[in-house]
Amino acid sequence: MKTIAVNIVTPDGPVYDSEVSMVIGVTATGEMGVLPGHIPTVAPLGIGAIRLKKDNSTELVAVNGGFLEIRPEKVTILAQSAELATDIDLPRAQEAARRAEARLQANKDEVDFKRAELALKRAMNRINVYEGNI
Ligand code: ATP
Repeated sequence: MKTIAVNIVTPDGPVYDSEVSMVIGVTATGEMGVLPGHIPTVAPLGIGAIRLKKDNSTELVAVNGGFLEIRPEKVTILAQSAELATDIDLPRAQEAARRAEARLQANKDEVDFKRAELALKRAMNRINVYEGNI
């Protein structure tokens, strides 16, 4: 089967480096599936899961913003943060979600509200990726 190399890199260092048969990511305009031989593209990433499909398995990585750079033989993902499902600290994400929900309830100014909404989205994404609930 044809494969494509995938590299996921964050400011803290590399997170993933492997050959896969398909990559599915959440871009600003929706889900994007990438197969080997894809035309060169750059797309901005939202907060969401990257699905890395291999023969009989799918690995999940939670990413938070960044860019997906596609070349026919290689996908590079530069993300603000990225965690493999197995590296996610579930209690930390649950606590972050609880804090963000409390801030949303407090309903202060618009800036706080936006920040809390984004924090909640990051936390829920981590919880979903940890649980394989994508
Ligand atoms: P928190 O409030 O728990 O710090 P956050 O969404 O504000 O969450 P980020 O700013 O997105 O955190 O990430 C900061 C760093 O912490 C990144 O390196 C990210 O990979 C890591 N990180 C954040 N939450 C988790 C988690 N639940 N499990 C593992 N790593 C995490």
